[in-house]
Order: sequence, then C-alpha cells, then structure tokens
Amino acid sequence: MTVIDVIEPATEKVLASVERATLPELDNVIARAALAQRQWAAESPQRRAEALLAIAAEIQNNSESLAQIEARNVGMPISDARDAVAGAAATFRYYSAAPERLMGHTIPVAGGVDMTFREPIGVVGLITPWNYPLLIAAWKVAPALAAGNAVVLKPAELTPLSALKLQEYARAAGLPEHLFNVVVGPGSSVGRHLIEHPQIGKIAFTGSTEVGKDIARRAADGIKRVTLELGGKSAALVFADADLDAAAEGLTGAVFGNSGQDCCARSRVFVERSALTPFLEKLEKVVSNIVVGDPLADTTQMGPLVSASHAATVGRYVDDAPVLFRGTTPAGPGFWFPPTVLHPISDDHPAAREEIFGPVVSVLAFDDEHEAIERANNTIYGLAGSIWTTNAARSLRVARAMAAGALAVNSYTSVRFSTPFGGFKQSGLGRELGPDALEAYTEVKNVFFNTNAR
Ligand code: NAD
Repeated sequence: MTVIDVIEPATEKVLASVERATLPELDNVIARAALAQRQWAAESPQRRAEALLAIAAEIQNNSESLAQIEARNVGMPISDARDAVAGAAATFRYYSAAPERLMGHTIPVAGGVDMTFREPIGVVGLITPWNYPLLIAAWKVAPALAAGNAVVLKPAELTPLSALKLQEYARAAGLPEHLFNVVVGPGSSVGRHLIEHPQIGKIAFTGSTEVGKDIARRAADGIKRVTLELGGKSAALVFADADLDAAAEGLTGAVFGNSGQDCCARSRVFVERSALTPFLEKLEKVVSNIVVGDPLADTTQMGPLVSASHAATVGRYVDDAPVLFRGTTPAGPGFWFPPTVLHPISDDHPAAREEIFGPVVSVLAFDDEHEAIERANNTIYGLAGSIWTTNAARSLRVARAMAAGALAVNSYTSVRFSTPFGGFKQSGLGRELGPDALEAYTEVKNVFFNTNAR
C-alpha cells in the first residue's frame, strides 16, 4: 500500500496519510460504479431527491468538523471554510429539486408524437483542484448524481481530506454503495487512467488551463463528454463615479481571499485615471489591515499558500515586479505570502498577464471606457469580471462587452449555486451550477412514436 502524506500549509507538518489508489483498484471502482448506476437511474425521482437532501443534512450536521478539516488542509481561514461547507450543503439541497424536474420536450411532428428525454451519461469522472476542494467537488457530485449518474471523484493530491469525508457522509446518508467513489492519487496516473477508461462517459474537470488542454486531447480519443473550469486573469473596471470604498474594500475577498488561490480572483484592477490616487490610498489601508495568520482563528482573513512549491512560484512573479505596497505575514513555519499590490505595471508584464494564483494584484490606470474594455479583454482567459460604476447604462454596456462568463456589477460575487458559472475562451468549456449544470451530466434522447401504426 502506498500512502500520500497530506501537509498542513500553516504548520508544514503532516496532517494525515491517505491511501493512494492503484490502477487495478480504480478499474474495480469503475466496474462497481457502472452496476450501481443502473439501479440508481431506475430509482424514482423522489428517491434520488431524498438521497441528495439526506447528504445535505449530513454535511450540515458535521459542518464544524468539515470546516476544520478544510481550513487545516487548504490553509483557508475558518470563516471561509464554514462558508464553503454551507455552500456544499446548499448545492446538494439545490440539486435535490432536479430529479423531479428533469423534463424533456414534446415536439410537433407529422405522423406521430416526438418526445425528448434527458438520460444520464453513466459513470462520470470528476477531477478537482486544491483551492476549494469540498465546494468544487459538491458542484460536480450533486448535479451528476441528481441526473442519475454514478461518480468517481479524484481530488487533488494536496487536499483529499474533505472529499473522503464527503464520501463517508454520503454513505451515512444512505446513498447506495459504489455510486459515489473517491480515489486518491496523482493526476498523471490516476487522473489519466480515469480519462482514458472506456467505462467513463464524461470528465468534469476544474484546474489549470494547461492540464485542461491535456484532458480535452485525451478525452477526444473516446469522444468523451468534457466540461472544463480552468484558469483566469479576471479584471475589475473601476470608474471614477464608483463607490471607491466598496471597490477597494471588496478586494479583501476578491483578490486576497483564500490567499488569491481563486480562479475568479480579480487580479487586474483597471482604475479610471482621475480616481487612481484616492483608490490606491484606500487600497493601501485595506491591505495593511488584512489579518494574515492562523487559519483556525476566527479573526483571520488570509491564511498561507497551499504548498512550498506554490509559494515559490508566486514569489517568482513578484521578484522583478514593481511592488507599491504589501501587507504582513506571521513569522515561523507556514507557506506565508503577504497581500501584494503591483503598480505602476504594464499590461504585458507576466505578473499582469499570467494567472499567479496568489495574493497579488496589478493596478492599472485607464482613460476611457472603450480602452478599458479592450485591455480587460486582451487575455487568453475569460472567467469573471466586475464593473464598478453608478452609471446604470454604462454598467450593462460594459458587462455585455466584457468577454467573460461570470460578471458582477458593483460586486465581486461571481458564484452562486443557483446561477450558471464558467468561462469564455481558455477559461473553460461548458457551465457548472444553476440549471445549466444538468445539461452537462445528461444526454438528450429523441424518441419518435408513430401514431399511425396498427
Ligand atoms: P491542476 O490543473 O494542477 O490540477 C487539478 C487536478 O487535475 C488535480 O486533481 C490534479 O491531480 C489533476 N491532474 C493534474 N494533471 C493531470 C493530468 N495530466 N491528467 C488528469 N488529471 C490531472 O490545478 P491545481 O493546481 O490543483 O489548481 C489550480 C488551477 O485550477 C488554477 O489554474 C485555477 O485557476 C484553476 N481553477 C479553476 C476554477 C474554475 O472554476 N474555473 C476553480 C478553481 C481552480
């Protein structure tokens, strides 16, 4: 048996050791999942709905211990981890309404009746990253099960603990055996095997754009269905008439939240030139007040980065970049990195162009709306974005012009379990959450019924 040591980023100590799945074990898991799926798909919609509600209740009943696990494994502040756990429960609750509402169409045709059904895909493979392990798993597991699939979930090797707990809670909630399976192991072996396995009908992946491309190429061989939630370099456009306090204060969560390890991080903030000086003054106060420290303390707003190697990567981006000001970090062990503001910086600087996935924001000045939109869109990514202005017409005009999938006006909120989420361009393919996610876990079947038959 090979084990993977799971490291706690705030202490650099081993938090747990988990068993790494072998490829023959994965084959067995998939074979059993395929059998369990047939029974699950034949269950009544009510029974599937009840099972999802029971999972939501189980998550809620164990919410504090799950939040502690997530906070310790990711280094996420406990208050954010509690929100993530509540979000995971809410996602299961939301999709518990889906089995009874998975409706098709009847379509007018000559000579009979035509109807469509939304059929489950079968066994779906889910591959998730380390930044919000439980929440992102829930976004995939809940709609996949609701639609009648079985799932095999491979969490990131760095953060498998909450996914393993979710599996345990799903079983305790009465979900049939072998329907929801967690396999731990590296992407290069376990992840790849999942993608290439003939009994896996679909891969839902969240992670880096680079790995997403590799998955899409490999999945193409079996014409596997794929949804991809990938990287971002999201922009906020702050116009001079905006509530500058709210736009600056909101960055505490929007780019420094989860230490910037957030695919929607607003890591490029374009500020109208006439508001630049007051905006930077406000942002400096915000950054100096961010409480960076022990993830388990209630007052902590930012924890460490997830690993030593990730901290080194983030550091390389900042080494030759113009740091205007930065916040503090605790001394001692832990993969700490201070909230950092870069300015003045060119749009072409790697730190202003590439996804850093750390607590680093580039502040860039603009002179007019058209220029701001052009520069915000000048990226391979298109995940999220914000528009800060009190001019309603402009806010909608700019929102329509920005090439991104999740936009917010006078807000940094990109994700709700009840609304679709996903990226334009190289930020992804397909949508998760909201009603749209069910389409990603079903196939449309068309049936023509000849009413002229005798
Ligand atoms: P990653 O791409 O390195 O890994 C993600 C998952 O893929 C892990 O489970 C990993 O083991 C697996 N994996 C790695 N190589 C693989 C391969 N060749 N075949 C199959 N699986 C493989 O990403 P990460 O470092 O865990 O997460 C950070 C990235 O995720 C960032 O780029 C971030 O933007 C992105 N992300 C996107 C969203 C979104 O919704 N768009 C959300 C969170 C994170």
